[in-house]
Amino acid sequence: MQVLDAHTHIVPPEILAQREQLLSREAHFAALYADPRARLATADDLLSALGHAGARGALAFGFAFDDPGLCRLCNDYTLASAAESRGLILPFAVVNPATPEGLREASRCLAAGALGLGELMPFGQGYDLDHPGLGHLLELACEANAPVLLHVNEPLGHAYAGKGPHGPAEALCLVQRHPYTDIILAHWGGGLCFYELMPEVRAACTRVYYDAAASGYLYDDAIYACAMQWAPERVLWGSDYPLISPRRALARVRALGLAPQAEAALLGGNLTHLLEKGMGPR
Ligand SMILES: [Zn+2]
Repeated sequence: MQVLDAHTHIVPPEILAQREQLLSREAHFAALYADPRARLATADDLLSALGHAGARGALAFGFAFDDPGLCRLCNDYTLASAAESRGLILPFAVVNPATPEGLREASRCLAAGALGLGELMPFGQGYDLDHPGLGHLLELACEANAPVLLHVNEPLGHAYAGKGPHGPAEALCLVQRHPYTDIILAHWGGGLCFYELMPEVRAACTRVYYDAAASGYLYDDAIYACAMQWAPERVLWGSDYPLISPRRALARVRALGLAPQAEAALLGGNLTHLLEKGMGPR
């Protein structure tokens, strides 16, 4: 079985060096990283964490900054790291679709080898899910046959840094407006997966994927078996590294004793199929 982590963040050494200065320029970055204990990781850190976990590779992306120049810096690094990684790093590109540069950067990165776009942080980057720029980006991704990964949150439960107002209701409206784009909703889609028990929601979500990033901080591990029952081909295991190590996140899933076929799909098979869909001509 090829274990692939579907949700990891890496940043270039330049971002690590500017961390203090960025806290005053980028409000969402500050919300998550003002605490010096909050880790940032480079591609080398990621590769060693994947090695410790025994994982084959990871979808990796930078931090979705407001500033398009910082997004570009992250993307150049992610793409270069992927090229050097012999297939271990599967690159996505971060952009700010609320800026005119966002779409151009998305096109540039998809042409340069990015396999998708994200993790976009609408709340952190200051736009709603009905922002026209996000709509245009999803159309561009659809034409390029590339998936888009979006950060969404559960509307209930405890508050934490990075928890925003975009939940399953907003995500479903977005999905209904873009039925032909593959959309990965991070953090279990803020719970949209639960509503797939409603036939009309399920019918609208055929191209929606859910990742399990940071699941251990949010949900009981029983969610894996439930979600795999409701959307067996559309659930992607992911750690949210460096927030959680792939090794720790993987151990929790392996301890569940899922059926081997479901475990293989969750831990890499579903992601492989999704990315293969996008391997056609761009
Ligand atoms: Zn997220």
